Amino acid sequence: GQCSAHCPVGAIYEKDDTRKVWDAIRDPEIHTVVQIAPAVRVAIGEAFGYEPGTLLTGKTYAALRRLGFDTIFDTNFAADLTIMEEASEFVKRFLEGKGEIPLVTTCCPSWVDYLEKYFPDMIPHFSTAKSPQMMMASMIKTYYAQKAGIDPAKIVVVSVMPCTSKKYEINRDEDMYSSGYKDLDISITTRELARMIKSAGIEFSKLPDEEADSPLGMYTGAGTIFGATGGVMEAAIRTAYYFVTGKEMGEVEYTPVRGLEGVKESELDIDGTKVKIAVAHSISNVEYVLNKVKEAKAAGKDVPYHFIEVMACRGGCVGGGGQPYGATDAIRAKRTAGIYADDKKSEIRCSHQNPAIKKLYEEFLGEPLGEKAHKYLHTHYTPRPLYQK
Ligand code: SF4
Repeated sequence: GQCSAHCPVGAIYEKDDTRKVWDAIRDPEIHTVVQIAPAVRVAIGEAFGYEPGTLLTGKTYAALRRLGFDTIFDTNFAADLTIMEEASEFVKRFLEGKGEIPLVTTCCPSWVDYLEKYFPDMIPHFSTAKSPQMMMASMIKTYYAQKAGIDPAKIVVVSVMPCTSKKYEINRDEDMYSSGYKDLDISITTRELARMIKSAGIEFSKLPDEEADSPLGMYTGAGTIFGATGGVMEAAIRTAYYFVTGKEMGEVEYTPVRGLEGVKESELDIDGTKVKIAVAHSISNVEYVLNKVKEAKAAGKDVPYHFIEVMACRGGCVGGGGQPYGATDAIRAKRTAGIYADDKKSEIRCSHQNPAIKKLYEEFLGEPLGEKAHKYLHTHYTPRPLYQK
């Protein structure tokens, strides 16, 4: 793998979980629900002869249906949900002074593992919002199970991820059992899904474009850009702007956070309030940004940033360790372009405007950061220093 030298959890060579997925699909007692991450749809085509970056959402849904999954949802929906929680967290900390600033994103499990080991003193800065795959899983075994009248004990949730660390995240701690069951049963990579499709004899390129199922399949442009470095930040900005001002951002594209530069610093103006932003991808760049914050704090100076996005992989999840092999910067850029094309063609481009998200809060969750949101959508971190003195 391209990042085997610095994958912090050494999870680069995946454990093959496709057998478990087949067993669940074949079990007539089990209702299988699958979700696909943002970055999968722009890379899976490489296993079937497409150019990197070709957007294949509809064909991927169709392939999952042919494989026999009962319900198909989209992690992009849950990315919208993550933004609702994380943007609320930012506003609470930044404007109301409740909690540490900068707020640092935590939807990358490789990064979370690293922070618990190497930056445990920075834990109060980390967002407690769970990652999209985990939010989706807890909503499937609670909200969806209730709505569909299915016993959550009979549901197996599968995620298709660009990432090998996501296999570890599903067992991270007791918060990953928030539904009363194991929230997410099996996580497979883009490569594993491609192998399943091939071994089932499905001709991917001949599949029609299909839709995901309701209600956790609908996503906005903000949800899809999670797959690229800077995407979580840009999605959060679109919604934080609305939460702070009560107005929609005129131009939703915030380009200073885009691209493959290792550390992207910028200043956003929210109605006269300046928000200092940093986006870092790959671990050395993340260290650089966090050390800057630590040094400023130690010297009693103002912190250099208010909001930081971090991703362990170069390019973000498009360059993840579970994607088709051989990613170069040119390939990462093409996959990224596919992601932004998906955003551009989306009718709705801000997470808080997603009608299915609004309904989920109305019918089940209540308010962002509320009691139920806390129970199902948030987690905590534990210092795990490598060497105890
Ligand atoms: Fe996984 Fe890499 Fe994405 Fe982190 S950046 S969630 S390690 S694919």
